[in-house]
Amino acid sequence: MYIDTHCHLTFPDFDPDRSAVIGNAKKAGVKCCIVPGVDRYSSEQSVSFAKQYIGFVYAAIGFHPYEAQTLPDAHVLEQLIDSSVAAIGECGLDYHQYKGEDAKSKKTNQIRLFDEHCKLALRYNLPMIIHCRDAFDDLFSVLDSQPSMPKGVLHCFSGGPQELRMASARNFYVGLDGNVTFSKKLQFMASLIPLSMLLLETDAPYLAPEPHRGKRNEPKYLPLVAKTVAIQKNIPQEMVANKTTKNARTLFHGLDLSS
Ligand SMILES: [Zn+2]
Repeated sequence: MYIDTHCHLTFPDFDPDRSAVIGNAKKAGVKCCIVPGVDRYSSEQSVSFAKQYIGFVYAAIGFHPYEAQTLPDAHVLEQLIDSSVAAIGECGLDYHQYKGEDAKSKKTNQIRLFDEHCKLALRYNLPMIIHCRDAFDDLFSVLDSQPSMPKGVLHCFSGGPQELRMASARNFYVGLDGNVTFSKKLQFMASLIPLSMLLLETDAPYLAPEPHRGKRNEPKYLPLVAKTVAIQKNIPQEMVANKTTKNARTLFHGLDLSS
C-alpha cells in the first residue's frame, strides 16, 4: 500500500483522463493522494477535487514561492480549510533563479509569504508541504522564528547530508520523487535518509521515474520510487511501502484509508 503525498492531479495535463489516472493509481496499490495547490485558484480546485474523491484525494492549499512576486495574501486560503484539507502547501522558498540586483527584494517577498503559511499551519494545526531550492538557510531560520515548530515535509528533497541533519533536528520528514531513479546524488541521499523520516511522492505530472523519464508522470508510478529506495537501502520494497505509508498517516493525521 502506498500514499502519493504530492501529485498535481488538478493540472490540465490530466484533463483528458483524470478518472482513468485515479483508477490506475488504485490498481498500482496507491491508497490515497495528496494534491497541493500552487496558488489560490489551484488550491480551490484541489479542495473541490478532494470532495469529488472523498477518502482517496486530500487537498493541500498554498502559494508556491514562484507566486510571491505577485504579493498574494496567504490568509485568503483560510476560508478553504475544512476536513478535505490535509496540509498547508505547497509553499516555501526557491532562490534558484535569483541572482543580481533585485534578488534581495524578491527573497524578502518569498520569506514574507512563507512566514504567513507557517502561521496559518500553526493556527489550524495542519502540517506543511514545503518546497525548498537553494534557500535552506533562510528556510530553517523562518521555521526557527515561529512561536513553535510547525510539522511538515521538505518535499522533493534537494539537500545534502547537512540539510538532512537540519531537517531531522526539527522533526521534519523529507520526500523523494521519481528523479531518485536516475539521479546518483538522490540515490546516495536515499541511502542516508532514515526510513522513519521518509515520504514517497511523484510530483506528477513532473519527474517521471525511469523507464518513463521525460513523459507525463502519474501516481501509478509511485512503486518505482519505492523500488529504488529499497535497492539503495538494501531492504525489501514492502518495508519501504509500509513505513512510508505509516509516516504519511502520522504527519497528515486526518487521512482515512478505510475506503
Ligand atoms: Zn509540487
